[in-house]
Amino acid sequence: MNDNFIPVTSPLLPPLEEFVPYLEEIWKSRFLTNGGAMHQALEQALCEHLGVQHISLVTNGTLALVTALQTLRITGEVITTPYSFVATSHALSWNGIKPVFVDIDPVTLNLDPDKIESAITPQTTAIMPVHCYGNLCAVDEIQRIADTYNLKVVYDAAHAFGVKDNGGSILRHGDLSILSFHATKVFNTFEGGAIICPDEKTKQRIDNFKNFGFLDETTVLMPGINGKLNEVSAAFGLLQLKHIDEALAQRQEIDQLYRYLLADIRGIRCLPPGPQTFSNHAYFPILVEEDFPLRRDELYSFMREQGVLVRRYFYPLISDFSMYNSLPSAKPANLPVASSVAAKILCLPIYPGLSRENIGLIADLIAIVGPKFESNIIEYPPVANL
Ligand SMILES: *Cc1c(COP(=O)(O)O)cnc(C)c1O
Repeated sequence: MNDNFIPVTSPLLPPLEEFVPYLEEIWKSRFLTNGGAMHQALEQALCEHLGVQHISLVTNGTLALVTALQTLRITGEVITTPYSFVATSHALSWNGIKPVFVDIDPVTLNLDPDKIESAITPQTTAIMPVHCYGNLCAVDEIQRIADTYNLKVVYDAAHAFGVKDNGGSILRHGDLSILSFHATKVFNTFEGGAIICPDEKTKQRIDNFKNFGFLDETTVLMPGINGKLNEVSAAFGLLQLKHIDEALAQRQEIDQLYRYLLADIRGIRCLPPGPQTFSNHAYFPILVEEDFPLRRDELYSFMREQGVLVRRYFYPLISDFSMYNSLPSAKPANLPVASSVAAKILCLPIYPGLSRENIGLIADLIAIVGPKFESNIIEYPPVANL
């Protein structure tokens, strides 16, 4: 790691020598893509690791979203959250679907189920929520609304690798869920993604769609796309799986240390843990409240000047980007909670290998400009493996 700055995230990269045998196997097989041995092995291994029935690997999370919407033949309008990465709405645009933005819950920062029904129109065909920061959405309420109005539910679970609730993986919720395996995500294949689906027939349709729509050598079922994950990425995923439990354990320890160190700083609020039973600590978001001496953007600039590359996930809101801001649902008055959170949010560095010294430094920097510096000179609790 560069000594001069602390990035907001850093990819999980197992030792290179552990990857070499996988590459040798690929070279020997001369099979680079098109659902080879690595691809099949990773689909199987992920089903077992995550505890889900069927997975189809794709090139990236954005194409996973586009493909999921195609698979369910979703059209018209889709209710979604403005508080996400822009790809969530872009996937709708790429399918000719109009996003309808609904405000978020002030505690979970996920789609507020109480505000969904009033946004439903005769054109609405689906709800596309995001498990933001890997925190579980109000899945039961959302499903109840979907059942009542005969809507599909597609979860953008790009942040939710490995997250569990009482019933197991949260990826089982809705009609389909998608994952991103981008380098910045908890589990990465350099670039990559996946669709989690409940039955073999749906998986078949996804598999055909991501391979140009081919059913066999001479039959094309639909205008599909090239969405296949290559063998090198799939192999890297297999290697990542061997290290993921350790990486998640480290993330949990970092989360705990931050919460301990930031607890006394007035005006800095950590997001409460979500309702899930197992978290992946993909992000460490804080809210810079009114009683903190600096505004969020001032703290953002200060931290970056100090070499701590904090990020404002998610600011601006998707609904504020020029291609969406003329939609009636994009008006800030329709999205008061999301607008307020977007002005206060700051994500602190979190990744396996972030040292406890650096976590202490980050907390101290916030405390220096905060209201209670003296009382923040504290002893760090023991943290293993950092
Ligand atoms: C990362 C991300 C995506 C896009 O995934 P890619 O693999 O980068 O295409 C979609 N939605 C959310 C919420 C994300 O964070």
